[in-house]
Amino acid sequence: MTDSPPLRVAIVGAGPAGFYAAGQLLAVDEPQFAVDLYDRLPTPYGLVRSGVAPDHPKIKSVTRAYDRTSEHERFRFFGHVELGTDIGREQLLEHYHVVLYTIGTAIDRRLGIPGEDLRGSHPATEFVAWYNGHPDHSGLEVDLRARQAVVVGAGNVAIDVARMLALAPSELQITDTADHAIDVLSASGIEEITVLARRGPLQAAFTNPELLEMGELERGDVEVVGAELDELSAVALGEADKTRRRNVEIIQDYAARPKTRKPITVRFRFLASPVELLGDADGHVRAVRIESNRIVAREDGSLAASGTGAFEEIPAQLVFRSIGYTGRPVAGVPFDERRGLIRNEGGRVTDADGTPQVGEYVSGWIKRGPSGVIGTNKKDSQDTVDRILEDAAAGRLNDPASDDIEAMIATCTNAVTWEGWQAINAIETAAGEASTPGRPRVKLTEWAALREAAKDALAGQTRR
Ligand code: NAP
Repeated sequence: MTDSPPLRVAIVGAGPAGFYAAGQLLAVDEPQFAVDLYDRLPTPYGLVRSGVAPDHPKIKSVTRAYDRTSEHERFRFFGHVELGTDIGREQLLEHYHVVLYTIGTAIDRRLGIPGEDLRGSHPATEFVAWYNGHPDHSGLEVDLRARQAVVVGAGNVAIDVARMLALAPSELQITDTADHAIDVLSASGIEEITVLARRGPLQAAFTNPELLEMGELERGDVEVVGAELDELSAVALGEADKTRRRNVEIIQDYAARPKTRKPITVRFRFLASPVELLGDADGHVRAVRIESNRIVAREDGSLAASGTGAFEEIPAQLVFRSIGYTGRPVAGVPFDERRGLIRNEGGRVTDADGTPQVGEYVSGWIKRGPSGVIGTNKKDSQDTVDRILEDAAAGRLNDPASDDIEAMIATCTNAVTWEGWQAINAIETAAGEASTPGRPRVKLTEWAALREAAKDALAGQTRR
């Protein structure tokens, strides 16, 4: 082992991809790395805190591994520091040998149909952030006097949204759902939730446990429209992976179930696309106009949805668009507009010609797109870390002009350290204990409250 000081790494984005990369880099003996993990929120964990559904606490226990990483003597957290606002890409490159972007894909994809922005129509991203207490979305107005809701999309986020709408107040009260959302969801008058899938049961992007949960709702009966496979899908079934084949079984089992008169019906409707959201005189959504689809084979053999010309209206006073996410560009960092990702090859940021940008790397959703589960990011980050190690060995890392990171951080007046986050965490968990037995925390959901909670731990943290 050499005596040279550790190579400095800035990781931007304290979600799973960022934490896995931090842990992997800190585990390397030669060369040694020191990691500063930045996030625009005062709180760490990214989508584990503000995306994973609150009634899935087991999934959130992955933060224990991230907390172990935070204990490393060469790890620091700087929350409430936004890239592009509080700190620039150039500043990071002036101070670090490696800048690794793990910023996720924060923007909802749009349907591009008339009426999409009517009141009562929300991107799932916003609704999920709202019930999870994200401080940017605590003021969202979700009108749950609605009787009918449509969730567009056949992925796990759509399932999360549909399930959260159907949970009973007693099921919500024991979770870390934000208090404002528990109040609104508990008073909900929802009777029907339609999950709208443009293709058939075989093409649905659900995973099996999430789909199975929908059949066990305390307050919801499950119903299916379009469970039978079309001819092309019936042929494709034999070649499909295990998850998709099992999805088809589960969906067909749901289709055969008798109703049990629960107060809410959750209906999976396959082979239908929204073509317009229809509004009432007040500009509030009242229905979704849909077109039935059939499955067609593309030239590359993949199976796509194609409209049949048969239209219908589904009454809905609430609509959630859950058709995937896309990334937001970072000023100065090459961006692939078509894919909505930072341009990269295997984790090395590249320009349009494929030439690597010295010292810049990506991991997680902003590298590969919004796919996979939390654990998928472990391998993804390891692949990027391997590229960093190759470049370190070849002398191809960035050569920063300054090591005075403290001076740079001093300009970020609100920066929250790990101790600051622990102060927030202590307040939230104590409030959870005082609230309902078993409730893990009551989240602070306002920027000012988060800042106030972290305040005492703010002053000049040096490397521990
Ligand atoms: P997703 O899995 O990619 O699903 C997006 C869905 O939107 C697909 O069914 C897609 O249909 C549909 N879609 C896309 N464009 C559409 C359009 N114009 N009109 C109608 N439908 C359209 O995305 P996601 O649900 O946002 O989830 C993101 C990732 O997070 C996934 O990997 C998911 O598994 C993961 N996640 C996991 C959990 C969990 O493990 N519990 C929870 C939440 C999220 P096509 O297939 O036809 O394109």
